[in-house]
Amino acid sequence: MRAAISALPGYVPGRPAPVAPDGTSYKISSNENPYPPLPAVLEVVQRAVTEINRYPDMASTQLVSALAERLDVPAPRIVTGTGSVGVLSSLLQAVCEAGDEVVFAWRSFEAYPIVVGLSGATAVPVPLDGAGRHDLDAMADAITERTRLVLVCTPNNPTGPVVGAQELEAFLGRVPRDVLVVVDEAYLEFVRDPTAADGLAVHRAHPNVMVLRTFSKAYGLAGLRVGYAVAHEPVAEALRRAAVPFGVSSIAQLAAVASLEQEKALLERVDGIVDERERVAAELTRQGWRLPRSEANFVYLPVGSATPDLVAACAEAGLSVRGYGSDGVRATVGDAAADDVLLEVCGAFLQRWSPDRVG
Ligand SMILES: *Cc1c(COP(=O)(O)O)cnc(C)c1O
Repeated sequence: MRAAISALPGYVPGRPAPVAPDGTSYKISSNENPYPPLPAVLEVVQRAVTEINRYPDMASTQLVSALAERLDVPAPRIVTGTGSVGVLSSLLQAVCEAGDEVVFAWRSFEAYPIVVGLSGATAVPVPLDGAGRHDLDAMADAITERTRLVLVCTPNNPTGPVVGAQELEAFLGRVPRDVLVVVDEAYLEFVRDPTAADGLAVHRAHPNVMVLRTFSKAYGLAGLRVGYAVAHEPVAEALRRAAVPFGVSSIAQLAAVASLEQEKALLERVDGIVDERERVAAELTRQGWRLPRSEANFVYLPVGSATPDLVAACAEAGLSVRGYGSDGVRATVGDAAADDVLLEVCGAFLQRWSPDRVG
């Protein structure tokens, strides 16, 4: 095996939900959408199943044209993949060689060090600031002659804050034009902060900026694996060449098109999830927690060395949450019943833990 393989951190998937003695059981460890598929989306999927003896359309033609229209970008700039992680993985294959460097904030999405390590490139993680935000000055300082890519995750998984439009613009002023900046907007639909960066607008204004988006979170298609990039044409063409052939199934393509058609209903659900996020964040704050400001479908509890204890307390109550070493715990929000259990566990946990030891 290549040395890079044994050096890779494993991707830790969200655990299945434990079951509490009273039967309570919620998986809130993977930022999934709690709602089942809309009937109109299910119907399309069921019809598509009858054609699984055929390969899918490799170019995702219908989905690409639906996205081009929806986003008002030329179709050749859109590249679909097996989730946005699939697109990111093709990007690393297309752009990076051994010795190249990729700058990203840390903690951030755990797939980043894996896809970077797999490509043979060197990961250059730059610590978040004390509020769980990207430290863009430090990230700009970390760029060297070997830097090929910078990954910007907004809102940041797992901490939740967005990157502001102005700070991103100032950062881009410091990035050399031959360094590609990837704005990962997996949670874009949950953002309500009007000062947040708009990845697509930034892409339009800068030839070295591309955007990653997904149908996994707000659109509720995590199980079908479909996401996309919006990139300038030389990059988009390289992504198409580097992709695994026929990666996005017909079922995923058709479900994504149907989801765009059902966008209004889906975004109403997103509004409900955002309302839940605000309710949970307000109640946690009232309990005495100090949290990073989340604009996504999760909250982050920076409990430091108490991380395993909080994960265990959640499990006892029937919640699988995501613990990050000795940094903190991420919990997906949106299902009011699960959110109520989370609030109860967090309230009781804080009683046992003095607030000055939190955050
Ligand atoms: C969930 C997530 C993705 C999307 O993953 P898919 O491969 O599209 O399911 C991308 N980036 C971040 C930061 C995420 O949290």
